[in-house]
Amino acid sequence: MIPYGRQDISEADIQAVVEVLRSDFLTQGPAVPAFEDAVANYCGAKFAIAANSATSSLHLACLALGVGKGDIVWTSPITFVASANCALYCGAEVGFVDVDLRTCNMSADLLAEKLAEAESKNELPKVVIPVHMGGQSSDMAAIHALSQRYGFKIIEDASHAIGGRYGSGIIGGCRYSDITVFSFHPVKIITTGEGGMALTNDEHLAKRMRLLRSHGITRDPADMTHEPDGPWYYQQIALGFNYRMTDMQAALGLSQMQRLDEFVARRHVLAKRYDLLLSDLQVTLPYQHPESYSGMHLYAIRLNLNEIRATQREVFEALRAADIGVNLHYIPVYAQPYFAALGFKAGLCPEAERYYSEAISLPMYTGLQESQQDQVVAALRKAISI
Ligand SMILES: *Cc1c(COP(=O)(O)O)cnc(C)c1O
Repeated sequence: MIPYGRQDISEADIQAVVEVLRSDFLTQGPAVPAFEDAVANYCGAKFAIAANSATSSLHLACLALGVGKGDIVWTSPITFVASANCALYCGAEVGFVDVDLRTCNMSADLLAEKLAEAESKNELPKVVIPVHMGGQSSDMAAIHALSQRYGFKIIEDASHAIGGRYGSGIIGGCRYSDITVFSFHPVKIITTGEGGMALTNDEHLAKRMRLLRSHGITRDPADMTHEPDGPWYYQQIALGFNYRMTDMQAALGLSQMQRLDEFVARRHVLAKRYDLLLSDLQVTLPYQHPESYSGMHLYAIRLNLNEIRATQREVFEALRAADIGVNLHYIPVYAQPYFAALGFKAGLCPEAERYYSEAISLPMYTGLQESQQDQVVAALRKAISI
């Protein structure tokens, strides 16, 4: 089976993890801050807080921004469920802003419309979470301008997008957001097995996320209610979690960072090759904004269903039968039974639903060989021409 995504682990990556295993610290050691510094420096952000998953990072980001009961958080419907669940964890209500079909990112125009309507009903969101679908940045300048007018905070879910750029800025620099979150799951651009990171330029947010990542416990006397009882002393000053990343994971991530640019460049070579090989098929190729450089986590085509006889499901099943691990990113989040039970109905985001009815993610990872890519294209060509 050719998977849709997989990790790329070198001998140097393995050695980096082995070194930690032979060292004094498996967790809470020096590898975690070293990895955090490397990512913060790469992105040009002041602070980076590693966690055991991007899901945890999104939760920490919402908590640091003060999301709680009675608050409203909006995200994109075309994303992994974690982008919405982070708001529900905090007791907030979640809402969805439909996507621009070309990029499958949250549409800034539809966001503007929804904000104007929400303002009149006094139901403005506290936080908006745009998702950089497939690694291509959302229209952050436009979303940021709206945040200035309507007073919401922004968390970029950049789980797909480390190594990408938006205009002249590196994704993760938080130029147009309060916090940016990366995922290091093995199918993503770089991996730590499980892992995530939140970046910010705001010292207060960074401090809050660090505190909540580790039980809400501080060892800094400046944050305590009274002088420490002694050298052993620590205080719990908030209800936090154990969302820490281990040193083995951080060492792997730090080692992977050295190849980040190479990884993304390789993904772009493969994407360009797909573009060429698929140019005569009845499919819509992924749109690349000329002023952004995608992390290229996904290569998602859309079937031109009015030009072919086969259904999306038939094409999908034919590819799976040919041992090609195609996937579909994503089922609109609000269509999940858990969300339907909260009252969300079909038809809420027509563009997202159209995308879901046409899209297929083709294999995209650094180790994908050209011969395998040819196999994928041949199988797709055959499946479409049924
Ligand atoms: C993978 C992913 C997440 C969750 O990442 P984990 O590290 O697996 O928790 C969140 N949002 C998006 C868009 C993702 O693709």
